[in-house]
Amino acid sequence: MNSKTERMVREFIWLNHGHGILPLYGDDGELQCSKCMIDFKRMPLDELLEKVERIRIKEVFESQDDSLPLWFGLSRASWLTLPRVLMQAMPKSWQRRMANLLFEYDEAFPYQPDIGTRVQITKNGKLIKTPEWLLNYRCPDQNMINSLRKQQGTAVG
Ligand SMILES: [Zn+2]
Repeated sequence: MNSKTERMVREFIWLNHGHGILPLYGDDGELQCSKCMIDFKRMPLDELLEKVERIRIKEVFESQDDSLPLWFGLSRASWLTLPRVLMQAMPKSWQRRMANLLFEYDEAFPYQPDIGTRVQITKNGKLIKTPEWLLNYRCPDQNMINSLRKQQGTAVG
């Protein structure tokens, strides 16, 4: 691809990446977006396409009525299992929204059967002992939790 074609491709992606035209900044030949902070002029094209794909998927999720089945995707999972220790490591605003959703869920199904569930941890399909950091939500292993976080500078959307 020559540089003129690449410029056109980049402009097209910039204009159509899903944030409308309001947050776009295009003076001085720049191709920036203040919503996702992506530099559409300088980011390597493959990285750019990957980021834009994630933005588009997120926008689709937010606008669809079947967003939950979409989130589960092609997996045949019948359950969603999230570790308390990581949920409590999420931002407070996320925890408030999550708690509200869970209260809402409980209110919608007040007659749930008196049955319990038990989580078993597997690795490569084989049962393993539950790692201590997953169990210990009282004194969270911050180093372990931070090592699982999205790396700085890769924020999208
Ligand atoms: Zn954007």
